[in-house]
Amino acid sequence: MSFDLDARIRKVPDFPKPGILFYDITSILMDPEAFSYCIERMVERYKDRPVNAVAAVESRGFLFAAPFAHRMGLPLVLVRKKGKLPGKTRARRFQLEYGEDVIEVHEADVHEGQRILLVDDLVATGGTLKAAAELLTECGAEVEEIFCVIGLPFLKFREYLAGIPVTTLIDYE
Ligand code: 5GP
Repeated sequence: MSFDLDARIRKVPDFPKPGILFYDITSILMDPEAFSYCIERMVERYKDRPVNAVAAVESRGFLFAAPFAHRMGLPLVLVRKKGKLPGKTRARRFQLEYGEDVIEVHEADVHEGQRILLVDDLVATGGTLKAAAELLTECGAEVEEIFCVIGLPFLKFREYLAGIPVTTLIDYE
């Protein structure tokens, strides 16, 4: 029988605002079997792929990318919100539903020849991951694939991220 990941994801109605159903991955982190399931699926999928670095989007992406990168012996690049990284950075501005945001990477961490697996916990519109992928590409790396634990395909992230394969462990309509 397959593992019931859905049962391990807490759904929180009306968070962070009325009408939004929030998929909470803290319930995965609290459940070593579920957390291990997620990391093992990542290992299975990418162990024979030509990926030589992992990049993760702040902040929940870090939680899945770090154990995977450690397990695979791969470098881990952090994509952070503006002003968090102490070294010389390259930045990218992107639109949110209301307003805009800026993400940054350490310039020295991303370079030509890197084939990056880009990781986040959840993909909705794909806006955050698209900005992250463009930032990494601008620095000379190639984004081999995007991995997220959860996908919301009704928000059309596959269309928005056209050209970059996206793997999710579970999708919600
Ligand atoms: P997008 O840019 O694809 O529209 O939104 C994805 C980003 O918002 C991700 O970084 C993700 O962590 C966060 N996010 C949006 N909705 C949810 C949700 O329901 N659950 C979780 N865990 N993260 C969410």
